[in-house]
Amino acid sequence: MKTFLTLLLFVCLLTSTTYAQSQQALRELNIVYFVPADMEPFPKYEERLNRVLKEMQKFYNRELQRNHANADLRFTPHPNDQERINLLCVRGKLPASGYPYEGGGAIILPELEAYYAAHPQNKKSEHTLVIMPSTSGNPLNPGGVPFYGYGKFCFALDYPDFDYRHCGEKTDMGRLFTKWYGGMAHELGHGLGLPHNHATRSDEKSFGTALMGAGNHSLGQSPTFLTAASCAILESSEPCRRLIPRAFVPVNDIDISIQKENGSVQLSGKLPPDCSVRKVIAAYDKDEWESVNNNYDAEAFIVPVAKDGTFNFRFPMDEIHPGKTALAQVQVRLIHDNGVEELIRHTLP
Ligand code: ZN
Repeated sequence: MKTFLTLLLFVCLLTSTTYAQSQQALRELNIVYFVPADMEPFPKYEERLNRVLKEMQKFYNRELQRNHANADLRFTPHPNDQERINLLCVRGKLPASGYPYEGGGAIILPELEAYYAAHPQNKKSEHTLVIMPSTSGNPLNPGGVPFYGYGKFCFALDYPDFDYRHCGEKTDMGRLFTKWYGGMAHELGHGLGLPHNHATRSDEKSFGTALMGAGNHSLGQSPTFLTAASCAILESSEPCRRLIPRAFVPVNDIDISIQKENGSVQLSGKLPPDCSVRKVIAAYDKDEWESVNNNYDAEAFIVPVAKDGTFNFRFPMDEIHPGKTALAQVQVRLIHDNGVEELIRHTLP
């Protein structure tokens, strides 16, 4: 007989919608080039970043298509040239030293909110990729600026040789390119709502490294892909989703059973009929929950849900890599139409 556990749900922060939802059905990612007050953009930044971003978009859209996701990553075209991406150049109030890696994101955010308040027509969704010119002063070792996902914002950087022509080169410049191009694509994943995950054994053989695993080190150098679970989450992400979301109805409480059974782990439960959950994702994690960069090692799966909301999922243990720790933890993400997720964590005995 199964014992059902009522597990606590962690509801991610709901964001306020500051623009009229009805004006535009398909939203787009905002892309900002944020320049400190004492700096100038690096030469040819628009031309270079246009290519870099379009190639990154191609990667995302190729993977979404391969996984049959009802989604595509959308950027805003330049008003005067449909071939170009509308890169918004925003001047910071502070000098470069005012936006350090540590804590810089939180300083930039209010400045961007003020920018959007003054230019509401430039805010195409709640999600923004912020690219800053490197402040390290060393073109061969860029850095010094925020570089991480931060809620619906994510931060990446530009440096003078950040140019797609170096992609795949087996040279120092090629490796440097992958570091910052792969890094940008990975952080953008976070900015679109993706958690870390790891390739299953089969996917690793077929497709290489998962972008939301260690793909930030491989994209452009060796095969890199988006997992089916990542693509399923992007179906609800505002700049990617194609369906207009239903009104948000949280699950709040759910009876779910997660237990070891015959050498595997069985996950069973039932979603309430009126909730707005679009996808259920289950990850098998072997590391501490609370570490900052957890879940890199967690294989993630889409849990099939029946029409009546029931689900019974058995983790395919032959797809799961051995863990570095003896911990075995299951993380269930209930992904709503509007991108909000409810999170259930359960440590296996
Ligand atoms: Zn990450």
